[in-house]
Amino acid sequence: MMEYKVEMCQEHSQEAIVAIDEAEQDLKIRKLCLQCLAKGYKRKITLLKDSINQVEETKAQIKQDRQCQLQNNLESLRSLVQNIEQLKDFYIQKIETTIEFVKKWIIQIQNMEEEFMNKISSHDQNDIQQFLSFIQQQQDIQIKE
Ligand SMILES: [Zn+2]
Repeated sequence: MMEYKVEMCQEHSQEAIVAIDEAEQDLKIRKLCLQCLAKGYKRKITLLKDSINQVEETKAQIKQDRQCQLQNNLESLRSLVQNIEQLKDFYIQKIETTIEFVKKWIIQIQNMEEEFMNKISSHDQNDIQQFLSFIQQQQDIQIKE
């Protein structure tokens, strides 16, 4: 528990306050010293040490509530980060798969072209019409592939 500084009475400046007048609405004159009490106080009062305990209990409660709220907020945000990271991993994997697919495509296109060129080079047709018909056939096959 923290040290509370000694507060002096508004009316009796030599006396430290020891109690609080719970019925008094004016916050400046709620605090009472022993002399105030000796005059015979009839209204409900709280001893200063009890009032300090109330303040300490309220402080502890507020700290506990806020700590709990903070933990909840942190938990939600950590969970959000985890979800975003999973999403990131998912997209990285998809992008890598797509890159691999396109790389295979590049190789496939190069191979097809090489095959086509080889067929043209090695075709020994002496009739231009038949040769063009053969080329057309090969191109049609490629389109289907
Ligand atoms: Zn007083």
